[in-house]
Amino acid sequence: MPLKATAHIEAMSAFALANFGGFDRPTLAQNESAFPPSPKAIEAGRDAVARSHLYPDPDWTLLRDAIAKTYGVERDLVLCGAGSMELIACTIAAFAGPGTQVLGTDYAYNFAASAAARAGATYVKAAERGYEVSIDAILAAVTPATRIVFVCNPGNPTGTCIKNAELLRLRAALPGDVLLVIDQAYGEFDDQDPQAVFALAGRGDTVVLRTLSKAYGLAGARIGWGLFAPQITAEVRKMQNSNQVSTVSLAMAVAAVEDQAYMRATVTRTADIRDRFARGLRAAGYEVPDSRTNFVLIRFANAEKAAAADSALRGADIIARGLSGYGLTDCLRITVGPQDVMDRTLRALTAMRGRQC
Ligand code: PMP
Repeated sequence: MPLKATAHIEAMSAFALANFGGFDRPTLAQNESAFPPSPKAIEAGRDAVARSHLYPDPDWTLLRDAIAKTYGVERDLVLCGAGSMELIACTIAAFAGPGTQVLGTDYAYNFAASAAARAGATYVKAAERGYEVSIDAILAAVTPATRIVFVCNPGNPTGTCIKNAELLRLRAALPGDVLLVIDQAYGEFDDQDPQAVFALAGRGDTVVLRTLSKAYGLAGARIGWGLFAPQITAEVRKMQNSNQVSTVSLAMAVAAVEDQAYMRATVTRTADIRDRFARGLRAAGYEVPDSRTNFVLIRFANAEKAAAADSALRGADIIARGLSGYGLTDCLRITVGPQDVMDRTLRALTAMRGRQC
């Protein structure tokens, strides 16, 4: 029987081919950074190319040191992976399987659902309210089969935030044998102090995930990291390939994490463009939830108007992300790109609004 690629990979490949003929043209559909990585990361990557005859450090020593120092976390809790996707998939594979449930939320990043399917587990969704995660709905949906609760904070594709106090309440109320996975791929865009949530990871029942794909502009280098207690690390590492983060990517990642000034400046620039774009959309009459990420969700009057807006944008060479995979057929998600692209996008959407979009 031929090996079957996962639904996610099939969907992404089809999406890439249908939308931009491949992955080499930037779009506003993938939540990539509008800005390149730190020049120091580029330089470190160039230097590392000459060391490509050597295997990478399988324990990511320098990167874990840099993350521990920068984020004020315990180095022994840090685990790295080929993007946070690898860490999501390996964590789900390690702790969920046939006969068990992974509990996400309506609009939690849907890669978790395909990772659960691949692990043979059932994926169920707790209702969100007004594009916001409801801790009470999650708690009400827990069953004896629940092994993992998966939440995104900030959320993708909503862009909204759960208050850290609410996450602590969730952890306190969940059964001790349910692993809570908190995906903070957009964490650098959230202005809440992350320490209380990071501290949950030391307990052995909670994992906190981050990535260098968003705020650091290193989506193509494929580096994620997370905080895992030793007993969880032992299980997750059994699912990981070794040497999966390349020498070049590791070198870039260390330099990027050490260049906090560049990352912070990038986040500020991105947030400024995002907020101006969101204000313009609201002024034109669109519903746009408050985003703490590098994208915005736009709600249209109905699915037909969203589809019409999507194709009109395509006509102007602007590729947004349709959200039928999340059941949000009346919405589009638009990544924050460079200012001129966002100005063009806003003009196009404002003109459509005049035509009752
Ligand atoms: N989590 C969320 C919420 C995301 O939006 C993404 C990427 N779109 C990821 C995880 C995966 O990111 P990566 O594998 O590039 O780290």
